[in-house]
Amino acid sequence: MEIGRVNLTGLTGEELNGFVSSLGQPAYRARQIFAGIHGRRLRSFDEMTDLPKELRAALGERSLVSTLTLESRYLSTDGTRRYLFKTHDHLPVETVFIPEERRDTICFSSQSGCPLQCTFCLTAQLGLLRNLTAGEIVEQIIFAWNDAYGVGVKLPRGTNLVGMGAGEPFLNFEELMKGIRIMKEPDGLHIVPNRVTVSTAGIVPRIHELATIPDRPHLAVSLAAPTDELRNELMPINKKWPLEELLSACKAFEMSLKPNERMTFEYVMLAGVNDADEQARQLANLLNRHDLRAKVNLIPHNPAEPLPYQPSSMERVETFREILESKGVHGFVRRPRGRDILAACGQLAARSTPGRAVMS
Ligand code: SAH
Repeated sequence: MEIGRVNLTGLTGEELNGFVSSLGQPAYRARQIFAGIHGRRLRSFDEMTDLPKELRAALGERSLVSTLTLESRYLSTDGTRRYLFKTHDHLPVETVFIPEERRDTICFSSQSGCPLQCTFCLTAQLGLLRNLTAGEIVEQIIFAWNDAYGVGVKLPRGTNLVGMGAGEPFLNFEELMKGIRIMKEPDGLHIVPNRVTVSTAGIVPRIHELATIPDRPHLAVSLAAPTDELRNELMPINKKWPLEELLSACKAFEMSLKPNERMTFEYVMLAGVNDADEQARQLANLLNRHDLRAKVNLIPHNPAEPLPYQPSSMERVETFREILESKGVHGFVRRPRGRDILAACGQLAARSTPGRAVMS
């Protein structure tokens, strides 16, 4: 938030009502402003021409509706777009827009940088800069939609939202859930919770908490290793919440699943590190021992200097998947997107990728 000014994009409809009435304005003004920000996806008061000029000026003195500024926009040969923003306090925020045939996916960030030290992820190298606010989370989605389709233009297809950008969403739980609540409002962005997935490296208490939230997003959990020994090395957070505790929490979370809902485990495939036949068997046994009705997404490692790993070959990934299947665990191979512009999983580190920067 800018000194003394409140970011209205981070307020729920109810909070916005309170703010507007504190200015001595009637409630319908709050509805107009909410519709302006979230329904019409406007990023300044000047564009809200349905508000009297004096009101726009009064609003501008105390508040604002956009705080992120675009620094660079990168376009991949596969159509993926990566946005690098700066917050008002000059910290990097990255968002990825991934068009697919029948739907789009927006991958948003929950933190600037990340405090976790997963050895295969480039974001780790930034360290934690700070948590993002609900407003900064919502702004990412508004901006990406406007860039892809035009300001306020009705979306041609559905969008999946994934909290898999920079940061650990469950270490910024309150603002994350608030952002999702704001985006759900029907006269705003009208995101269906069923289209939202948040991914965690395994913050166990928040997995329990998420289970209690009505209309919650889907859960994905990053595993990366089938044993504590290897996971301690790849994802040091495992020393705090080891696999038994993590999978017990996942088992408890299962109680909150809807009939057709599955939770997802993500498994980044690192050549010669975690992709052997034996490790596929260990992974299947681990999930079966906890009796989890989950699916496993196998993500070939997205390499980036100076990460010390190579992606597993496609044959290796496929064999790994077949071993999981032979033991009754459903595995899916994820196709990497946006690798050429450092937009793929684990590549967000506010880097520029010269030559492909496209500014609008
Ligand atoms: N902190 C959260 C969300 C961000 S990471 C989490 O850990 O789940 C999103 C996904 O990308 C995770 O499953 C993570 O394991 C994976 N990932 C990280 N670095 C990667 C890389 N270099 N290549 C492929 N996947 C990676």
